[in-house]
Amino acid sequence: MVSSALRECDLYRPLRNGVVQCTACHHWCAIKPGESGKCGVRRNYDGKLYLVTYGKAAAIHIDPVEKKPLYHFLPGEGILSIGTVGCNFRCQFCQNWEISQLRDFYVDPKTGEPDRFIGYDSPPERIVEAAEYYGVRLLAYTYNEPVVWIEYAHDIAVLGVERGMRNVFVSSGFETHHAWKYMEGLLHAINVDLKGFTEKFYREITGARLKPVLENIEYLGGEVWPKIWLEVTTLVIDGYNDSEEELRGIARFLASVNPNIPWHVTAAHPDYKMLHIRPTPHSTLIKAYEIGKEEGLKFVYVGNVYDPERSSTYCPKCGTMLIRRDGYRVTEMWEERGVCHNCGEKIPGVWK
Ligand code: SF4
Repeated sequence: MVSSALRECDLYRPLRNGVVQCTACHHWCAIKPGESGKCGVRRNYDGKLYLVTYGKAAAIHIDPVEKKPLYHFLPGEGILSIGTVGCNFRCQFCQNWEISQLRDFYVDPKTGEPDRFIGYDSPPERIVEAAEYYGVRLLAYTYNEPVVWIEYAHDIAVLGVERGMRNVFVSSGFETHHAWKYMEGLLHAINVDLKGFTEKFYREITGARLKPVLENIEYLGGEVWPKIWLEVTTLVIDGYNDSEEELRGIARFLASVNPNIPWHVTAAHPDYKMLHIRPTPHSTLIKAYEIGKEEGLKFVYVGNVYDPERSSTYCPKCGTMLIRRDGYRVTEMWEERGVCHNCGEKIPGVWK
């Protein structure tokens, strides 16, 4: 008998001899009884898959939506941001590794008690009530990869939508079509990390694969755009993914999918297993910014460094500044949201 503190997953299917296959992300883990998937939080008890982090938030903050980063989605709004332990990626540069890289804890199936910290008791109702209490209309599933706790995210999102809130994923883009289907009608925006542009980088540095991420960006930037508003982030790492060839490859790919996708090129700092790197030079980010523009992207932003000029939003037709940002703060916002007040160009995004 498994404790009611553990939530049976919705995204899995039985194989043989008690083995199950998780269908949430592109690792497609086949999981034996008593074992967990690569993310360490979806565990097989007696031939059924359970999410052991259901209702357990390891980090909760109210951030500006710009910090996700989303620059074309309700600028200046606060967003209640939630993360749990565990992740399907093993990024050596992870900036949230203290929670995302926690795994291999044991959760007693009878009591639901973990052998060590797994998160604070935060059932979905409590998360939504907290957002209401603080007057926040947006909910972000972030800090670690939300697809590994998708049943928890889903249940929060359902309650949020019932109360007029909007839901945002900050994701590595490794979801399966089962995951998209499961979240249908619940997601309003997503920021996808495109961490590099070679399979080698993905395999060696992140423990995942590039191809599914590219396919998801094509899906989100094409078929469903802009129903789910999409922005893409590349953390530029000195000496790893900062060659002109790689940055140009990313920019060209995004422009071919949809030139309206905002691309954020952000600075990395030494962290987790990459303590040897130097912080990304500002000049590298400026180079990436220019490459993005040259390749036809209409909106490129520099992040994690102080650069008000390259973190502001301009009309792609006449160049008029529409939103001025200072760090994550919006300091000026144009009145005719959605349309350039100078030339009438329609500016893609969610403004109201
Ligand atoms: S979500 Fe976790 S268990 Fe499921 S396929 Fe991905 S890594 Fe494996």
